[in-house]
Amino acid sequence: MTFIIARTDEEDPARTEFEDRLAELAAGRVEADVLIVPHIYHVAHNDPLWQNLCSIDGPMVVATWLYPRGAEWVLRSHGIGSAGVQTLNMADFGSPEECLDACEIGPGSGSVRDLSDRIEPRWYPVIDYSRCANCGQCRQFCLFDVYGEDEAGAIRAVAPDNCKDGCPACARVCPHGAIMFPLYLRDPAVAGAPGVIAEPDEAAKRLFEERTKTKHVGPNAALDDLIDDLEQLMEGN
Ligand code: SF4
Ligand code: SF4
Repeated sequence: MTFIIARTDEEDPARTEFEDRLAELAAGRVEADVLIVPHIYHVAHNDPLWQNLCSIDGPMVVATWLYPRGAEWVLRSHGIGSAGVQTLNMADFGSPEECLDACEIGPGSGSVRDLSDRIEPRWYPVIDYSRCANCGQCRQFCLFDVYGEDEAGAIRAVAPDNCKDGCPACARVCPHGAIMFPLYLRDPAVAGAPGVIAEPDEAAKRLFEERTKTKHVGPNAALDDLIDDLEQLMEGN
């Protein structure tokens, strides 16, 4: 068992104190190392930290200040699978003790390693592949070539750092609620909060259609086409 604590990206003494206390408590409860790492969303795609984390055997708990869905797909985009990985949002707990009690960990004792150097903030989309239908509309919509395809033809954020700071536009365009911006807390659905999914509204669809000069295709494309055909028929009568 490895217990990973991802630091806050804010100057927030209360959060830092929470992380340090959690690390201390966890070291008394897990057999393997407790690792303190930088805020996982900001760690660059080519940072050796990802290789280190991928090489860890056995189950892992990852405590972050992100909604678990956002944290899960940041980790999965770096090859850290969901099986055996428990993600926790430290913001959900009133104290480090409560947070540790929510972990599926057994007794033991370990040590704390702090690998959390300061890193540059980043801003990019995180795709939830359990929802993505590979429709390609995010790629059509983005003006900055953030999206591309991998060798198998799957849509990927191939140039994430081209994304414009603070812009969550494509999350509003994705018809399947697959795109998250985990730090966009102004809209919990966009940030990946439990129980809510970002859905395109009329304004987002209009923006898509103006920008791409193509029709926005929703999750019920066949039904939409049928309704359009019916409307045209009725207008013709
Ligand atoms: S718009 Fe959404 S569903 Fe379509 S490819 Fe992009 S992420 Fe996947
Ligand atoms: S938020 Fe804007 S710039 Fe960033 S990937 Fe989406 S469409 Fe492109």
